[in-house]
Amino acid sequence: LAAQERFTTRNPRSKEQHLAATKSLPGGNTRTLLHTSPFPLTIASGDGAHLTDLDNHTYLDLTGELSAGLYGHNHPLIRQTLLSTFDNVGLTLGGNTIQEAKYASLLCERFKLDRVRMTNSGTEANLHALAGARRFTGKKFVVVFEGGYHGAVLSFPTQRPKQPNTVDKEDFVVFNNYNNAKEAKRQILQLKGQIAAVLVEAMQGAGGCIPATREFLHAVQEAAREAGALFILDEVMTSRLAPHGLGHEMGLKPDMLTMGKYLGGGLAFGAFGGREDVMAVYDPRVEGSLAHSGTFNNNSLVMHLGYAALKDIFTPKVSVEFNARADLWRERLQHVAKGTRLTFTGRGSLMGLHFTEDGINAADVLSVTDLQGRQRADLRDLFWFEMLEEGYWITRRGFVALILQTTDEELEGFVDAVKRFLDRHEGIM
Ligand code: PLP
Repeated sequence: LAAQERFTTRNPRSKEQHLAATKSLPGGNTRTLLHTSPFPLTIASGDGAHLTDLDNHTYLDLTGELSAGLYGHNHPLIRQTLLSTFDNVGLTLGGNTIQEAKYASLLCERFKLDRVRMTNSGTEANLHALAGARRFTGKKFVVVFEGGYHGAVLSFPTQRPKQPNTVDKEDFVVFNNYNNAKEAKRQILQLKGQIAAVLVEAMQGAGGCIPATREFLHAVQEAAREAGALFILDEVMTSRLAPHGLGHEMGLKPDMLTMGKYLGGGLAFGAFGGREDVMAVYDPRVEGSLAHSGTFNNNSLVMHLGYAALKDIFTPKVSVEFNARADLWRERLQHVAKGTRLTFTGRGSLMGLHFTEDGINAADVLSVTDLQGRQRADLRDLFWFEMLEEGYWITRRGFVALILQTTDEELEGFVDAVKRFLDRHEGIM
């Protein structure tokens, strides 16, 4: 409570702005996730890997726009590409462009896809991938996993009424056995001939940055094929974790792959792609093919920014080095928090922070089920308030996505801040 009171005292302009925003936005908000009580902070500007709020506090941005902000807030190449596209090309042209084919070609090469199509968000990418799978297989039901997040309307949190293994009214079958290779396989095979797709994240991102085991993903891929369904890997978050995506790193060959976030170079983006024969359901030359329209699907800014950033900033080499650096950082944090109620999970540049009643080792967190009923929301909130005072911007629920420009010194500074927090609250941690 004391931390919350300090928060309110420190942020009068954010509080005022929040109240003003509620006059036109329900709850003063247009992205539910960003709401926090007693009120959310309003961010005024970003610079590199830093943010400044309305009350003029600056933060190291560890939220990294939930993984879409990989390139930071004003990367010089992005700026240059943005301005030259505006000056020389125009925003939306209402016709096919060379640039969309160039970007498609780069995405196919990088993420090992035969064909790809663009959308304006990861949510849309998943919706179109599922529609494609339904058309391709002629089946309707889709298997997903509890804790999975595939977009605003494709969210399967643990709090939902538990109906594991039953077909619910939205045509999704929700399994609660993420990372349980044997059970997942057995249950998928029970639905043989009835399902269009199994949709799964290579690491549950919004679910808490819980990486899948290689064994689990391979079992799911194999079972999906045996059941006559498509294996769709949602790499909207995880494609940044390895040069050709996390699935490729794990030796998977998904029938379809969905992407988004940072691949728009900082602007709204999504993409879905995969096998040529599957993606052919979207070929407009084919009688009866599925329509995939979207006014902004090939808008110039995203096609140019996404392309330039992936080609010249986040090269395969940079991807490897950046994620290795982040792995070392997470290990340092794990070391510092050992034996406390704080645990860091994740992989590479994406990290989850968990506060649990009895403490838990990162290696033992295999699914959200392991964390259920053990969470200490009070400690999580205290940490969030105090990290803001220390100058670190992370999501309240404990999600971290690193920005490329973040320096080693800054990362080390966070380790020290975590140490100070744990020392200060030794009695309750
Ligand atoms: N899939 C995953 C794994 C995600 O993490 C997200 C967003 O967080 C989405 C899909 C949805 O992407 P968007 O927010 O661009 O619609």
